[in-house]
Amino acid sequence: MSATKRQPAMFLAHGDPMNALRDNEFTRKLASMALALQERPRAILVVSAHWQARGALACSAAWPETIHDFGGFPDELYRVEYPAPGAPELAREAAALMAGALPGGARETTEWGLDHGAWTVLAHLFPRADIPVFQVAIDSGAGLAGALAAGRALAPLREEGVLFIGSGNIVHNLGAIRWGGEPYAWAGEFDGWVAARLNEADEEALCDIDRAGESARKACPTLEHYAPLLYALGAAGPGARPSYPYVGFEHGSLSMRCVLWDGDQPK
Ligand code: ZN
Repeated sequence: MSATKRQPAMFLAHGDPMNALRDNEFTRKLASMALALQERPRAILVVSAHWQARGALACSAAWPETIHDFGGFPDELYRVEYPAPGAPELAREAAALMAGALPGGARETTEWGLDHGAWTVLAHLFPRADIPVFQVAIDSGAGLAGALAAGRALAPLREEGVLFIGSGNIVHNLGAIRWGGEPYAWAGEFDGWVAARLNEADEEALCDIDRAGESARKACPTLEHYAPLLYALGAAGPGARPSYPYVGFEHGSLSMRCVLWDGDQPK
């Protein structure tokens, strides 16, 4: 009998939803990250930028529906389904772990499914959709320190074979988007500042991005695409060393940087 290996924590960029259908350097890297896992996950937990809720929630739907939560894209994107089963028992456990650690408590709900922050990346990582998946919401009232605390509360699930994925974008400014354009200077600056703070495991700074100066306001006019990074950082645990399987930009104002904290790395 072999003990379950601890699964990694990851932060994945998702960017433009059309990435679900693309075959490019970024999507091939997602596929190779799944192939590099030492052990097949028992289940996958996703914290996506596209599920914000009041309070800490975990989705315990037995068959989470594929949610096409965007407008103005080609029909073929609306036809994509990611028919993975849910993981109701693990979702209940996730809610219990958060309830025991967070001042506002936590609960399960069946009123969600898989939004495009989840399925556009899972389609490349696990195209067969045969590993159970469940989402945990971003608690919109908890702030970045709350996101870090929630990720920390959920960390024990990794020991049970649950792959932890935060899905967002470290730089995400749709108002400044220039399709196919080069990255803005402030986008590169903020992305680099975050990577440097991740390398130092400086959680305080990562929860207080105003310290990065003007670039933070442009890179994160709102926080929902950045917050999943803090959930993943919390799940990675203190002192875990990050690596960056993919670094780049899309449409000038989206950072595609992905972060990996390995499963069984020495402390
Ligand atoms: Zn998004």
